[in-house]
Amino acid sequence: MLIKKKKCPFCEKQAQTIDIDDIEELKKYITEKGKIIGSRFTGVCSWHQRKLKRAIKRARNAGLLSFISK
Ligand SMILES: [Zn+2]
Repeated sequence: MLIKKKKCPFCEKQAQTIDIDDIEELKKYITEKGKIIGSRFTGVCSWHQRKLKRAIKRARNAGLLSFISK
């Protein structure tokens, strides 16, 4: 497989939290169908992946992200 080891982009930014209002950022980590992309592909560390999952769920509940993009 052609997966390079990437640095976690959130660690690089030294992000302690993931902002659910930053939809453009969150969108990078979900598929077209609204599924969360695995950390293996995005390089997000497990700690931030957990935070990301929560942020995406909250954004969905708040109606900021649709499950299926049109
Ligand atoms: Zn990280």
